[in-house]
Amino acid sequence: MVAEPFRSCVACRTGRPKSELIRVHLIPDGRLDVDLGGGSGRGAYICPRHVCLEQAVKRGEFARCLKVTLAPITVEALEGLIRERVSRKVAALLGLARRARKIASGAEAVDVALRRHSARLILSAADASADSVAKVRNVAEKSGIAWMQAMGKEELGAALGTAPRANIAVTDPHFAGAVMSLLDKIPVGMEARETAWSNR
Ligand SMILES: [Zn+2]
Repeated sequence: MVAEPFRSCVACRTGRPKSELIRVHLIPDGRLDVDLGGGSGRGAYICPRHVCLEQAVKRGEFARCLKVTLAPITVEALEGLIRERVSRKVAALLGLARRARKIASGAEAVDVALRRHSARLILSAADASADSVAKVRNVAEKSGIAWMQAMGKEELGAALGTAPRANIAVTDPHFAGAVMSLLDKIPVGMEARETAWSNR
């Protein structure tokens, strides 16, 4: 197996496999864009962490690395862009997974997927009620099933062509892995995930 190429973060300079970093590049109209696929051409790589993004913006690291003059961008705008790109790609993956019948959605179907251990990932909407999230999260964690929280109920439902969904289960390991590595690119700033990231 060929090892994945490493790239250094423009802010903290830590080297990590390309797939764990976000690639920022220039689009023809002169603005920065975010590329989740690790495309070609000149790009700057950065950790999906608030501290790194903030530092890169403050110090003008993107302009330096891309050797261009850039219109100023705020860290909020950049994080919003990353979140939007990630959500769009996750939604497309969930749509594919649904057509391949690798999704359980609706409270009852998710419950069955959890009890039968066919679930590989439980995805809870960020705006789902605390009660509905806690219940599935508990069962998932006790059963050693991955759990993540991202996107909105409307967004999850739209991705699956259904009514809004509070929780869904991905029942295929490949789809689940792909969704998890994408969601890992949403910048984190919270203490807990910050630690989880540093310990990798
Ligand atoms: Zn970094």
